[in-house]
Amino acid sequence: MMKEIRPHDYDANSIMKQSMHELSFFLTSGNAFPESGLPAILEEGFRLWRSEADESVPKGILMLFDGQGSCLVHEPADTQWDSRSWTTAKLLLPVVLEACKSGKQERMLQSLEYEGEAYEACLSVVPIMLDQTQGCAAVFGFIQPANEASDMAVLHSCALHYRACLHRHLEHLYIQHLTREQVAAEKEAARREAMLQATKRLHDQIHVVAVLNEFMNTLELLYPHSNVELLLSQDYSHADARVQLMTFTHDMNDICAVAFMSGEAALRQEEGRMTIAVPITGKQATYGVLRLTTVGMEWEEDELADMEMLAETAGTAFENAKLYEQSNQLINELQLINELTRRLNQSLQLKDIIEFTTTDLLQIFKADYCCMLQYCKEDNEFIVLSSNKPELLHERLNGDYGFCGKILQTKEALIVSDYSERTAVSSKFMTLTGSHSLIATPMLVHAEVLGVILLTHRRPHFFSYDNYKLLQVLATHIGLAITNASLHSEMRRMAITDHLTGLHARHFLDEQIQARQRQDELGALILVDIDHFKEVNDTYGHQIGDKILTQVSSIIRSVIRDSDIAARWGGEELAVYLPSVTTGQAYRIAERIRTQVSSQTDPGVTVSCGVSEWHFEDGKVSVEALFYRADMALYKAKKSGRNHVQVG
Ligand code: GH3
Ligand code: MG
Ligand code: MG
Repeated sequence: MMKEIRPHDYDANSIMKQSMHELSFFLTSGNAFPESGLPAILEEGFRLWRSEADESVPKGILMLFDGQGSCLVHEPADTQWDSRSWTTAKLLLPVVLEACKSGKQERMLQSLEYEGEAYEACLSVVPIMLDQTQGCAAVFGFIQPANEASDMAVLHSCALHYRACLHRHLEHLYIQHLTREQVAAEKEAARREAMLQATKRLHDQIHVVAVLNEFMNTLELLYPHSNVELLLSQDYSHADARVQLMTFTHDMNDICAVAFMSGEAALRQEEGRMTIAVPITGKQATYGVLRLTTVGMEWEEDELADMEMLAETAGTAFENAKLYEQSNQLINELQLINELTRRLNQSLQLKDIIEFTTTDLLQIFKADYCCMLQYCKEDNEFIVLSSNKPELLHERLNGDYGFCGKILQTKEALIVSDYSERTAVSSKFMTLTGSHSLIATPMLVHAEVLGVILLTHRRPHFFSYDNYKLLQVLATHIGLAITNASLHSEMRRMAITDHLTGLHARHFLDEQIQARQRQDELGALILVDIDHFKEVNDTYGHQIGDKILTQVSSIIRSVIRDSDIAARWGGEELAVYLPSVTTGQAYRIAERIRTQVSSQTDPGVTVSCGVSEWHFEDGKVSVEALFYRADMALYKAKKSGRNHVQVG
């Protein structure tokens, strides 16, 4: 028995390098015999041998059997021999099977008789072992008419030659297989590397836009022939056209909706186009769906798993970036609130507060227009306190009108993303400014609407939900500041106003004269004293006395200008300071007061007036000196019979 010949004996160069184990594994794993299987390989080996074998091949029917004794090839395949060969082959079957089973290399001569003709079947049983574990793979045989029996040695060498060809073919298949494996391994390594890098890059990003950008770029790189889109469930301003807002449908045919709802990838194939929807999920929520559309591309199971993994990584990175941005935003908002309240607390002047609030709000929200309105409960109307649209200033709007009306009614903030004439609520502010986006909020103090803040932008969908929430927070602080400023101004007004007459208090007059003396060149003072007031009181009582005092005060107010300051100086003594006015003019005014009092009071009283003036060229300018001289003049007026005006 000959030593078994293995494939590596034939091509030492390539095969020797491979271990027997690998080769044997290859042969048994099924990789060597795809689809068509072993018979096809045996046949291919035969074809190879035939192309190499020369004319010395003996005449007759050449036959190749597989390990189960089935005849795979016979030659020549002409009709004459054909049917016979088959039949012969059948006759030979027991012999072939015996040979296959024994697996021994041997030569057989078998005499056969078929349709009266004698044949010699020369079977060179060359067991072709593919592997130690497998039995004989093939048997090479030859049938000749008895008279043409040829040399068995030639036949045997043919069989060996065939085996060599077969092994070469196997070798070729094996190398092909190895190459394929290598290509696949390289592809897999590249894919893993790409995935690793993508994951790393995704986790490196701390901004949402960067995460999305990275994700989309990676996908485009990994799936260059596909169309990749990302549909986000939440409003996110993003310049990338590949990222869109998801529109929700309850259509079960919408695989994006299915993927979003179920949290699992969905796949649809129609007309050669494949659509894959993979949810982008973080630990807290699903943020959107990745949609990949591809035409005429094979899709492998691994790839979907990869895509799901990548989507998961993107989901986590997106969530982290979002949380990071949210915390940053929160810090910013807190800083804004802090800064605004600090500034609000700095001033108690309503005008200042309203002015800088308008400017700040425009800046914070990057709005085009701002309008602050105060609600007046008595008249049920809104008054525009401030706006960067000057036409609207001091405008009065009915309490039921527009967005303010709605806010007054609901006491709730509102957001409008695309205002048009068709919007249910009509708004002069929106129309006048050509705005489409609006956020508006009430300024509430003790659950009462104190006023409304409106912020608009000409672009639709400009304000975010975060903007809307922030404005509400700021409005609380602004509302409080306005209330404080209003209270403060009321208190101040009360402090500088005389309760009975409504004229200024004496200290206020003193302060004002002092201030004017520092900046003006001259000014005049009139002191007014009611004549015989004691008698009036005695005659009519104090209440009527008070009434007369009020009448005289009203007359004084009606005679002087807004820039003049009238005050109650003492009990029934009143004073008027006339800035930048000479005694001549002051005298005429005092005269007017005097005559009007005498004609218009009821019960009728008269007054006496003393007038004095100061001039910056005077040696010593002081409030006291001014009063002193007016008092002296008043004294003179009394002396000269009352109902009189005297200049000091
Ligand atoms: P004349 O000035 O002409 O010399 O006489 P007269 O009676 O007005 O004298 P005098 O100015 O000294 O009197 C002041 C009186 O004015 C005393 C007081 O009864 C009265 N009086 C002062 N303040 C008030 C007030 O707030 N209400 C009323 N009803 N009377 C007042
Ligand atoms: Mg008096
Ligand atoms: Mg008097």
